[in-house]
Amino acid sequence: MPRGIYKKTKEHLQKISITRKRMFKEGKIKIRPKEIHGEKNPRWNGGKSKHQKGYIMILKPTHPQAQSKGYVPEHRLIMEKHVGRLLKKNEVVHHINGDVTDNRLENLRLLTMREHMKIHDKRRKRDVKGRFA
Ligand SMILES: [Zn+2]
Repeated sequence: MPRGIYKKTKEHLQKISITRKRMFKEGKIKIRPKEIHGEKNPRWNGGKSKHQKGYIMILKPTHPQAQSKGYVPEHRLIMEKHVGRLLKKNEVVHHINGDVTDNRLENLRLLTMREHMKIHDKRRKRDVKGRFA
């Protein structure tokens, strides 16, 4: 092979990608390699992702209440499993400790929208600083 000319083989590209991944992990490069990003990655976390409101969303396009991109809030899925039926549209799963990422069953409470609003109203009145969970 003549000097200066280097053909990029598949193996070579793979080597580069592994090196980049390692460098990214070690913080040497800031650009996340394409390979470890997105839904196509086999090591992807099974369709779990965070929603804009902080809720944990599960990718479940077959669910009757799935949102536009096929996501369903994890706390609703957990409650549905617990009660053994689908939740109605006017049913709300409340996070007792106020942490919407804490989806342990003991932190979840199934309420109607009305009951749920009441709970948050009460909290609002009780909190002097005007904060509510
Ligand atoms: Zn609530």
